Amino acid sequence: MSQLRFFLYTAFSMVLAASAVGPLAAQTAPPASTPNSQQAAPPQSPKIPAAPTRADILRGAYGPYRANNDLLFYHLDVRVDPEKKFLNGKNTIRFKMLKDDTRIQLDLQQPLHVDKILLGTTELKYEREFGAVFVDFPKTLRAGRVYAIDFYYSGNPLETGRFGGIAFRKDPSGRHWINTACEGIGASIWWPNKDQWRDEVENMQISVSIPNDLVDVSNGKFMGKTDLGDGYTRWDWLVHYPINNYDVSLNIGNYQHFSDHLGGLPLDFYALPEDLDKAKKQFAQAKGMLEAYQHYFGEYPFKKDGYKLIEVPYSGMEHQSAVTYGNRFANGYLERDWTGVGVSLKFDFIIIHESGHEWFGNAVTAADPSDMWIHEGWTTYLECLYVEYMFGHDDAVKYVNGYKAKVKNAVPIIAERGVNAEPPQDMYFKGALFLNTLRSVVNDDPRWWKLIRDLYKRFKYKNIMTEDIVQFFDRKTGKDMTPIFNQYLRHTAIPTLELKFNAADGTVSYRWKADEPGFAMPVRVGKKDNWQLIQATADWQTIKSPIAKNEFGVATDLYYVNVDKQ
Ligand SMILES: [Zn+2]
Repeated sequence: MSQLRFFLYTAFSMVLAASAVGPLAAQTAPPASTPNSQQAAPPQSPKIPAAPTRADILRGAYGPYRANNDLLFYHLDVRVDPEKKFLNGKNTIRFKMLKDDTRIQLDLQQPLHVDKILLGTTELKYEREFGAVFVDFPKTLRAGRVYAIDFYYSGNPLETGRFGGIAFRKDPSGRHWINTACEGIGASIWWPNKDQWRDEVENMQISVSIPNDLVDVSNGKFMGKTDLGDGYTRWDWLVHYPINNYDVSLNIGNYQHFSDHLGGLPLDFYALPEDLDKAKKQFAQAKGMLEAYQHYFGEYPFKKDGYKLIEVPYSGMEHQSAVTYGNRFANGYLERDWTGVGVSLKFDFIIIHESGHEWFGNAVTAADPSDMWIHEGWTTYLECLYVEYMFGHDDAVKYVNGYKAKVKNAVPIIAERGVNAEPPQDMYFKGALFLNTLRSVVNDDPRWWKLIRDLYKRFKYKNIMTEDIVQFFDRKTGKDMTPIFNQYLRHTAIPTLELKFNAADGTVSYRWKADEPGFAMPVRVGKKDNWQLIQATADWQTIKSPIAKNEFGVATDLYYVNVDKQ
């Protein structure tokens, strides 16, 4: 059991790394497009999920001491000593109690030290178990009332390799370059917070004190800096919107700043001095990206905070309003044609993918990592929308179908809930192919554009689960879409269209073979440019068709399905 668990953890750690940067890591993780990740035989072991550990449950479950309160505000005030790789500071956490209780759960991972936790001037008792910190109050906190505590901490945070967690690095000129990227491992790797996905603060203040010669770029609007008189300067940032813990970031370095705007939206760019010219050229793509996504979904969701793009030493991450970038100032993904069909090299994959998360991931957010396809499947689909907006429909169809080679169909896209389980990499590519399929199911583009725009508006600044999206589609289309969502997201295999030809009668019979009971989905068949729409179900139906078996096609570019001709 423990060995299996270790295997799973290792495998998922790679996915986790991938999730932090878009589909893959810059350095050691094998790119999803290498043969290594396209082995024909899918691993069987994940079909028997390992029992979650106590640490997984503490981290992943929305337990009673999390559910009894609602976050309102954080003020993270941290001092960073680059030489000693040492942090110390406090997070002021304001929350509303939802029921009477004497205990809440916060999180701070080892080896960071809890210095003290104060309610006003009263020092609170606490118990630590793995990453969890259970804080006990001497008097019952009352439902409906708002409380604030100051959580003081210090220590040398664990650097979990590559870009996981917080990394103290040097830039090519040997100056300090410190960045955070902690989506999988959790923000509690470097600061104390309620480390889960369901509950977000309404807004947040971030104060970062660093040596005078460095610059900090964090999330939100820059409010100013203060010389502390001891060789350190405090940089203050204000986040005006709900924010995921893992999106909260530090980017400390010898950054040079340049700015632009798109209408009323301020655009701020940060790069190392040696990369400034390259950045000025490459970061110009941010405008086209913003125009494309605003075209489909409406206004950039974090307008008061502005849009920032910041050079980092890893490939990139969607930190809210402060997207990080490490794609070598070149188109494609690490200079490669990412989907291998001649489209990727027309744009910078990291700018387009990571920024797409501002709409799906940051504005519309999954309430549990199990449903992270809401971030990654949708954002990968947003790449396709960007391609369609910039380069046309043909390129978009080519681009999304280029992802087929990366899909493994080894385990379902939706992972186990409440145990901090990371879904498989299929949430990216299969997720996008599924949404492209859904567009064909709706079979009415103006309606599709309105549907996805309305969906975004409905769930903007909310933390949702897959059921919310399915319900939305059911209601808006007036159809039961649940079986289609279930087949693609909750089962391993994609549906197969079985076709039986009877040359003598000039007929073809068809039905779906799928895991989901009641699976039914329209699909276009026959000949390209003259497709015939059939309402296929799990039962055999027959149509007349003059098209011979070897010429009878299925629109597999528009529907992600298998075809079995008998
Ligand atoms: Zn992503």
